[in-house]
Amino acid sequence: MTIVVEPVSAAIEKTPLERYVAPAKPSLIGMTRTELAGALTSLGVPEAQRKMRVQQLWHWICFRGVTSFDAMSSVSKELRAVLAEHYTVDRPEIVTEQVSVDGTRKWLLRLPGDPESGLPHDVECVYIPDTDRGTLCVSSQVGCTLNCSFCHTGTQRLVRNLTAGEIVGQLMMARDRLGDWPGATRPTDGVIPTGERCITNVVMMGMGEPLYNLDAVRDALLIVSDGDGIGISKRRITLSTSGVVPEIERAGREIGCMLAVSLHAVRDDLRNDLVPLNRKYKIADLLEACRNYPGVSNAKRITFEYVMLKGVNDSIDDAKALVRLLKGIPAKINLIPFNPWPGTKYECSDWEQIEKFSQVVFDAGYASPVRTPRGRDILAACGQLKSATEKLSARERMALRAMAMTD
Ligand code: SAH
Ligand code: SF4
Repeated sequence: MTIVVEPVSAAIEKTPLERYVAPAKPSLIGMTRTELAGALTSLGVPEAQRKMRVQQLWHWICFRGVTSFDAMSSVSKELRAVLAEHYTVDRPEIVTEQVSVDGTRKWLLRLPGDPESGLPHDVECVYIPDTDRGTLCVSSQVGCTLNCSFCHTGTQRLVRNLTAGEIVGQLMMARDRLGDWPGATRPTDGVIPTGERCITNVVMMGMGEPLYNLDAVRDALLIVSDGDGIGISKRRITLSTSGVVPEIERAGREIGCMLAVSLHAVRDDLRNDLVPLNRKYKIADLLEACRNYPGVSNAKRITFEYVMLKGVNDSIDDAKALVRLLKGIPAKINLIPFNPWPGTKYECSDWEQIEKFSQVVFDAGYASPVRTPRGRDILAACGQLKSATEKLSARERMALRAMAMTD
């Protein structure tokens, strides 16, 4: 798969050079029903049987979460053998798993690399449990082509889009590990929510810009929300974007999940610095796209993310301007404590300043806008996770970010 992203200016975005090279035996995970039907056609399954076979595969893969064709007892032995010859139901390979005392889990996952560059493609996936819910933070790209100045992923040069299968695969892997399939056994370590499901919410807030990989993200999220499979409601799935204005409407129309927007500044000059994509799509255009987001209402609000950077965007005037700016938009505000990384020029705002800022936002009618960071102990320990391509700080930041974002 080649990704074509035309750079407007090197400072706004970089061209992804890494390629996705499919494994010899592809996984059926992430295939839409139409793609499954296509796979069955290529294996010679007669047309009269195809619809029924697609339904069976969907049930075994997406509802039961089986990890081998052998377990698909309602599928004929012959077809299982043919399937196993050409396909797998593999998930991304787990390199490491860490469990925090508060139950937060982080997985470092290895995806097929590009033989040309010889570099492995790693992403991280984070699970944040609460008493009544569990949120999975999922990545949409290896790295990110955008260069937000406060974000470590933006400094990573290795970039490629994930396939729909690699996106859904993160969720399948997490459900395997959490015993979150019908009849599966839950792990005894860590904290698991008390309800029927371990993973109740999904946030596309890991590595990457999901709206630069919209087709794969759409296919993946439609699979994740499908009522005959994993069945996570679209109201419990949030896609976070740095503000790819021309794709926002399509995301709403084709996926229909909740939207989060990384605003981070109330003035264009400052946002140009923090989120260089703002030079292409200004705050006013971004907010207009938010007003027009399909289905937006007081019951389906847009979350505005605002990273607290000391002396940069954290003044009381900024807070007042923020609530003025969002007036009339059904909005929630998430203030995210900045998670520093080696070499960054930014610092996290002082706690008193975050509280003062938060008070202005609260007084304007937004409930508890600051998220408590989770899983601090495994962040501290995650030096042991060091991989060939990915620096510790990038993963740490992503985990903390995800934790800060749990709603
Ligand atoms: N690319 C998308 C989604 C991934 S980033 C986006 O930018 O929205 C998820 C969130 O984490 C974004 O709001 C992003 O701005 C924020 N973030 C990035 N680096 C951070 C850091 N070092 N500390 C706190 N939040 C950060
Ligand atoms: Fe990419 Fe989001 Fe990081 Fe910006 S904040 S560089 S869009 S991952």
